[in-house]
Amino acid sequence: MVDASALPDAIELAIVGAGPHALTLVAHLLQKRQALRGRCLVFDPSGSWMRQWHHQFAAFEIPHLRSPAVHHPDPDSFALRRFAESRPAELFPPYDLPGTQLFHDFCQSVIQRWQLQDCVYPAQVLRVEPLRPRFRLELHSGETIVARRVVITGGGGKPQWPAWVSQIATPYPSDRLQHSHQIDLRKMNLRGETILIVGGGLTSGHLALGAIARGANVILMARRCLYEKLFDADPGWLGPKYLKHFWDEPTWATRFQMIQQARNGGSMTPAIMTQLRRAHHDGKLTFYEQCQVTEAAWLGDGWQITCARSLSANAQAVEHYHPTIHPTIHECIHSQCIERLEHLERLERLDQIWLATGTRLDMTQDLLLSQLLEQSSIEVVNGLPVLDEHLRWQPRELAGELFIMGGLAALQVGPTARNLSGARMASERIVPAITKPTLAMTFR
Ligand SMILES: Cc1cc2nc3c(=O)[nH]c(=O)nc-3n(C[C@H](O)[C@H](O)[C@H](O)COP(=O)(O)OP(=O)(O)OC[C@H]3O[C@@H](n4cnc5c(N)ncnc54)[C@H](O)[C@@H]3O)c2cc1C
Repeated sequence: MVDASALPDAIELAIVGAGPHALTLVAHLLQKRQALRGRCLVFDPSGSWMRQWHHQFAAFEIPHLRSPAVHHPDPDSFALRRFAESRPAELFPPYDLPGTQLFHDFCQSVIQRWQLQDCVYPAQVLRVEPLRPRFRLELHSGETIVARRVVITGGGGKPQWPAWVSQIATPYPSDRLQHSHQIDLRKMNLRGETILIVGGGLTSGHLALGAIARGANVILMARRCLYEKLFDADPGWLGPKYLKHFWDEPTWATRFQMIQQARNGGSMTPAIMTQLRRAHHDGKLTFYEQCQVTEAAWLGDGWQITCARSLSANAQAVEHYHPTIHPTIHECIHSQCIERLEHLERLERLDQIWLATGTRLDMTQDLLLSQLLEQSSIEVVNGLPVLDEHLRWQPRELAGELFIMGGLAALQVGPTARNLSGARMASERIVPAITKPTLAMTFR
């Protein structure tokens, strides 16, 4: 961590957020240009690398990553495999998925190898103000720093709360209805409780298994049939197989559709699905598929929920399916529900509701980016900015080099933009723009 009293007046490059995307970018940058060492600062309220990532994995007790060992922040693709040579038991089948502790230790080794221990300044960036051609960053402490270039990572994702939550008429204890980002399984004793988990993605699977392990009975409710997929998006999206077609698509709104179809909402890994089926068989888990909550009321000692059959989102996906991409999706769509809701139903005496309903990426809802939008409007398609090929905010009035990486860069990077693979692909676009003078923007 950088000494909080040692903020310089000006810096070459400021990076907002110290998650895996920022770590990937800094490692790739230093590999290309050692001279940038000491001229770049990363800002994060935690003052340390990967805090958010490690917290998520610990809070949901996730044993291993969903992505294979080739995806990680170091520029050397084989670095994690080499690191794991003495710990082979921590690479999980079927594709050597790194164990959580292994990945943690590996990232620490990346931080040490690239000497990045002192890169992270403990502050939230509240405002990025264009100074033409630089930027002034305003920190929550009231301090400011001027940067020639800015990269914004980890922005834009806001927890999605279903509409019925805002219609709950009865007051209720806040710890009885929580979004997944508020949940920390490690602190919970759930013996004898009944928990409704809403959502059909991997997070709801992790939470269900964690709750059952703590003695709870779980109802897992999803708007469509749960379905299995190894990865968030087909590996064809990591290379030209699908990306060429994606990049050839000139209409941003169509690209957005392609991203949605490739990710196709939440899915479970086969391994988690097997454990859920087992819990179902043991009577600890009930599935409510193709089902959605229509009303909830807190009755003083528990929740009463009314739920109804939902129009299958799986069926909608078939309708809008893009035939040239992601052929394997068909297998998922035709999978059968384990337990489908046929009628309107009322559930009584639920102790807690957990919403594993994901986040929505929308730059117009992000504090930093919405302020920038006011000063320099760019095209925004369903919440995603239209960036140039190096992930730069098109200059216009902004007149400085500002990059965005992470899920918000998906219109250029593709459906895996938010993942570790997306961090590498984004770095490969951003690094040349910073290190090659011919690619740097010129400003009037
Ligand atoms: C439970 C879970 C498991 C996942 N597993 C995988 C996986 O196995 N493989 C994979 O490829 N992907 C996975 N992902 C997806 C993705 O890789 C992660 O979400 C990853 O953490 C995204 O990295 P990031 O750097 O964009 O953001 P984050 O890890 O969220 O980090 C962003 C950081 O930015 C900071 N920040 C935000 N705003 C500001 C500000 N204004 N000023 C200063 N700092 C700020 C935050 O405090 C945070 O520390 C997973 C996601 C989740 C939620």
